Amino acid sequence: MTAVARKQLPLRPAGPDTVDALLAWYDEERRDLPWRPKPGRAKHRRPDPYGVWLSEIMLQQTTVKAVIPYYLRFLTRWPTVEALAAASLDDVLAAWAGLGYYSRARNLYKCAQVVAYAHAGRFPETETELERLPGVGPYTAAAIAAIAFNEPVTPVDGNVERVVARLFAVRQPLPGAKRELKRLAGTLTPAERPGDFAQAMMDLGAGICTPRRPSCLVCPVQTDCAANARGIQEELPLRAVRAERPLRVGIAFVALREDGYVLVRRRPEAGLLGGMLEVPTTAWNDLMPPAREALRAAPLKADWWQVPGTVSHTFTHFKLELIVYRALVATDATLTFWAEPDRCRWLARRDLASSALPSVMRKVIAHGLTER
Ligand code: SF4
Repeated sequence: MTAVARKQLPLRPAGPDTVDALLAWYDEERRDLPWRPKPGRAKHRRPDPYGVWLSEIMLQQTTVKAVIPYYLRFLTRWPTVEALAAASLDDVLAAWAGLGYYSRARNLYKCAQVVAYAHAGRFPETETELERLPGVGPYTAAAIAAIAFNEPVTPVDGNVERVVARLFAVRQPLPGAKRELKRLAGTLTPAERPGDFAQAMMDLGAGICTPRRPSCLVCPVQTDCAANARGIQEELPLRAVRAERPLRVGIAFVALREDGYVLVRRRPEAGLLGGMLEVPTTAWNDLMPPAREALRAAPLKADWWQVPGTVSHTFTHFKLELIVYRALVATDATLTFWAEPDRCRWLARRDLASSALPSVMRKVIAHGLTER
């Protein structure tokens, strides 16, 4: 073998030694997270499945830093799955507000009820059974099965995909490479300590094998990493070119009553932000409706005033830009047919912060109520 060829291969290919090195590193360097048993006790105490499930649902599409205060608040308020199941959906949605992707909160609540009432408060213990629960997809099922019940499965999310793509120098672009990356992750999953292995992979991806500038020099598996041996770690994983998110636009109406109440409306149960509160808006379409036409569809007859600027928000599949109109109205103001009055109510300004308002609507109301 030539010197050049030797340089392009890792000292040893990723395998059982990689797993041992990673677990040894995890024992020393693991992140201290509230849903993990404290270091030194992990071998003697399994994490509480309720806490693992709650954290994993919250962590979908959100960062650890953002999740921790929500996790602690939920656990204090609803310390068991039975307590969460007995809460009201409104309270759960309000406590969730700010974490985004509200269908997750609705499924969290549904799942708590299924576990509390159909499984007598005990979470199922296998990946297959867990996947049947509302809101629990393949990744979350594998994470709970591995971490809470020590089933030898490896949850594969974006972080783990990146680590595996680099360890094995996979050049097939995502998302096409997903299946292969899952298979390769499976070849590493140990029969002993699969939960710790899963969390070690998560920690490695979050802290060392980062998307940009991975810290290969301090990486516990550097000698096993094919991408590092070839110097291509920063190029991986490759991604197929992604289409731009389309832009949708609309007009939002912030009506403030003289006694300090704001008009809100509950969105339909099905669909985006299902069941959450909003201020009335026009439909979100490709083209902005002409102002005169939009004002005819305002939720009440009033002296509407266009607030300068726009509110932008990015959803998973599209970007939204809203123009905001504001009006100050009398306490006996009557809603128009366009407001869909049976879904509307007046909410005190002081209660806005604790209501089930999604981030986009918090932005709209803040924009609409800012004194100019
Ligand atoms: Fe990631 Fe570098 Fe470690 Fe390879 S050596 S797994 S690229 S941090």
